[in-house]
Amino acid sequence: MTDNLFPVLFVGHGSPMNAIEENEYSQTWARIGQQLPRPKAVLCISAHWETPEPQTTHMDHPKTIHDFYGFPRELNEKQYPAPGSPALAERIAQLAGSTAVVLDNERWGLDHGTWSVLCRMVPQADIPVVQLSLARTRDGQFHYDLAKRLAPLRKEGVLILGSGNVVHNLGMISMEEEAYPWAEEFDALVKNDIKSGDHDRLIHFQKLGRAAALSINSAEHYLPLLYVLALQRPEDRLQFFCESLMMGSLSMRCVQFGA
Ligand code: ZN
Repeated sequence: MTDNLFPVLFVGHGSPMNAIEENEYSQTWARIGQQLPRPKAVLCISAHWETPEPQTTHMDHPKTIHDFYGFPRELNEKQYPAPGSPALAERIAQLAGSTAVVLDNERWGLDHGTWSVLCRMVPQADIPVVQLSLARTRDGQFHYDLAKRLAPLRKEGVLILGSGNVVHNLGMISMEEEAYPWAEEFDALVKNDIKSGDHDRLIHFQKLGRAAALSINSAEHYLPLLYVLALQRPEDRLQFFCESLMMGSLSMRCVQFGA
């Protein structure tokens, strides 16, 4: 680890089926999980939990939420019984400072943005997991700034995981293998801006034109990336995994900073 800073990860999660299918993505997540140092806890910012203002799961035993329809019984019955960490949830609320973070004791749990990835990375489900919601009324700068305040967690052995997709337009999903040109264009733009450290452009993604607008037709799958970018330090090593696009309008790109 760089100066004992824990790595931070963005994972393109795609279909919930990756939780039970052996494929390029699930196998890569498993490999990343084996290579990472063992965290004390995981904080996940998932595309699938949006609330008016930020909330964090505060229960001892978060339930496994099956927030999808039309999938096989095996997936509907899948459980990810990782413990929660009320102490981490309270630490997040403390670090957020003037931004109020509501501690949720009953409503949420772990949604598939979190458990479909973690059941591969930490299959034993023996590391505490906390989710932080996306405040749906807020802009990119708000999310980036909130994430900056969570930076001390990297020194406290917490794995911060953003789970979404850089390109995510379900209305344009195609059965063709080939990606749309705009999807390729925006995915490449994001990669380049991450490499050059140009976070400002990525925070203000609404100004990036047509390819960005089609790729981010609703922002919840993109915003977890901003949390990960905000936690980047200059000394972090940068790695990309799963740099492929699927079903025309879905990017599976993963990004790791550090270690
Ligand atoms: Zn999703």
